[in-house]
Amino acid sequence: MVRHVSPGVRFMPFQRFLLIAATFLAEGPALASSFDLFPVVDFTGSGLTAAQQTAATHDLMAAAAFWTRNITGYAVTDPGLQGITVPVGFAPVDGLQNTLAYTFDDLVYMPASNGLTYAYRQPVIFDSADVAGLLATGSFLSVAVHEFAHAIGFGLQWLTNGLYAPGSGQYVGPAALAMYRAEFDPTATFVPVEVESHRLGTDDYHWAEYWAGGAHELMTGFIDPPLFVSDTTLFAFRDLGYTTLAHVSGWATAQVPLPPAAPLLAGGLAALAVIRRRAA
Ligand SMILES: [Zn+2]
Repeated sequence: MVRHVSPGVRFMPFQRFLLIAATFLAEGPALASSFDLFPVVDFTGSGLTAAQQTAATHDLMAAAAFWTRNITGYAVTDPGLQGITVPVGFAPVDGLQNTLAYTFDDLVYMPASNGLTYAYRQPVIFDSADVAGLLATGSFLSVAVHEFAHAIGFGLQWLTNGLYAPGSGQYVGPAALAMYRAEFDPTATFVPVEVESHRLGTDDYHWAEYWAGGAHELMTGFIDPPLFVSDTTLFAFRDLGYTTLAHVSGWATAQVPLPPAAPLLAGGLAALAVIRRRAA
């Protein structure tokens, strides 16, 4: 089984994950194409009490369940496609509010069959200055669902899969574009992507705040409650090589609204990845 590692897995800068990945593939079941998301939570540095950690764990599992319900599998069968590991950590980022969390690409997998690049292991880091407040206001879950979308590939794997050219503001993946026309703008020739925030990790990795889907959609670069998840977002995962439900399911029960405060940023996700790619 290890033979699948060398040709298929491309290591983004962290070679230390080589052994982990090899072990993961070698020990994994030989079957493929069922999608799952595995949060691996380390509360070191979070400053959270035991009770808060329990609440956060519950929300992280709920966020994972939201996506594993809506993303039903992989579009191709390959032994290396068995789900995504999401290490979840806590560290100081930029103080209260502003960036709440970010996600970056560590390890991706490229099956030979369809030419796509899949997320394999993508960590989420929550700003330790924000996490207690997010839990207290009931908004931690919404941010977790947003970040897990990135961990599955939203924004992070657009470039490598030919869905988006940085700086263009125009997402051209056919499945999401078709759904965007059906949901929001029948004449659209692209799905608008944020390019005006002038924030590294927000621009190029989110739907535009001014798109026809409105500012309340979860995957714009700024969180504006009340939030919803569009079918356009769901279908963006079809463009990334996953199979999905026909419509978003379970958001109403999963959602915990954010307080009506000034817009919070939920971005910064790909800043590290972009910098490392350019340096590489
Ligand atoms: Zn984001």
